[in-house]
Order: sequence, then structure tokens, then C-alpha cells
Amino acid sequence: MSEAATGLVLQALDGARFRFDPGALCLEFLTTGGPGPLSRHEALHSPRELADWLALSRLGLDPGEIRTGPGDAVAGRRLRDALWRLTRAVIEDAPLPAGDLAEVNRAAARPALVPRLTPDRTRAWAPPVTGARALSSIARDAVELLTGPDAGRIRECGAGDCPLVFVDLSRSGRRRWCSMERCGNRHKVRALRARRDRTEEEKP
Ligand SMILES: [Zn+2]
Repeated sequence: MSEAATGLVLQALDGARFRFDPGALCLEFLTTGGPGPLSRHEALHSPRELADWLALSRLGLDPGEIRTGPGDAVAGRRLRDALWRLTRAVIEDAPLPAGDLAEVNRAAARPALVPRLTPDRTRAWAPPVTGARALSSIARDAVELLTGPDAGRIRECGAGDCPLVFVDLSRSGRRRWCSMERCGNRHKVRALRARRDRTEEEKP
């Protein structure tokens, strides 16, 4: 599948904006907040916010077409938090929590979005385009990713203070940062400063 526009534009707590492409829909969904300290990034307070996010995500849903129900934001948060715990367990090669497995499998069992080919060879979605279907598509994407050949390439960003998770699809398999613009650059600046400080110390 070709991914033309890659990634979401995120805003860090310090206000910096950067593009982040985690390589998979289910990991993209993790940028909407999460359990524990990640709840300060919560972006799914209402069905409207879920719909807005789905339009920005790699699903590229038509904002005018998405129908969400009153329970969709809660269901979305539950699925997302389960995905966080499962993804971390996979990264740590730890047992998968049973409740989180049940949550994802429940969402995946529902009808998912149905893709359509348009005359200009773009992908669209057949109606009904609903929040519940989108959540099922996200859950199914997680099943594929966590059981597929790239599961061993799921990583946390190399910056100690950045919780973002991505699947490393680079040929070299050496992707270290959520985004070069953000954590890659912060690392470069820090390395440069450390080198300068050392040089200062060496001066007589
Ligand atoms: Zn990062």
C-alpha cells in the first residue's frame, strides 16, 4: 500500500511541532494519548475529536462522511490503552496481558472499514464510514502488526524522555528516533553541546 502523505503533525508539550510516521495505523493511534502519564496528551475526549483524528490519520477518512456514536470516544480510549500495553509487552518480549488481548480482539471482531478503489486510483472507503468500523480497522491492523514479520522491529524512540513508538521499516533497520526533526535533532544538539563543553574544559 502506498502511503503518500506520511505521518501526523504532532505538537510536543513545549510547543514544538514535528511530523511523526510510526509506520502503522495502530501505532499512529497511540499518539492520541494513553494510560498513566500519557493521559495528559489525551486527544479523544469526544466522538467529534475521534472523527477529527480519523480524518488526519493514515486512514484519511473524509471528515464529512464519518459517523460517530456517543460511545465511540470511550471505546477508542479503551482500545488505545490496551494497544499501548500490548505494544510495550511485545517490545519487552513480555507476556501479553489477557484483558488487553480480549479488548483488541473484541474490537477486531466487529465489521471493519471496507476499502474502495476510485477511478483515479486512490483508496476511499465504502459507506457506512463509522467510528466503530474505524476502531475495528485499527484493532485488525494491530493483530497484523503484532503477529507479522515486522513485530520484532517495533521500538520506542531512543530519546529517554520520549514515549513514542514506531515500527522500523527502514532498509538498514537502524531507525532510532520518532522523528529526525524532533528527537534526532535534540540529540544532535545535546551531543554538540557536550563536545563543546569538553573542549572548553580542555582549554588551559
Ligand atoms: Zn522521540
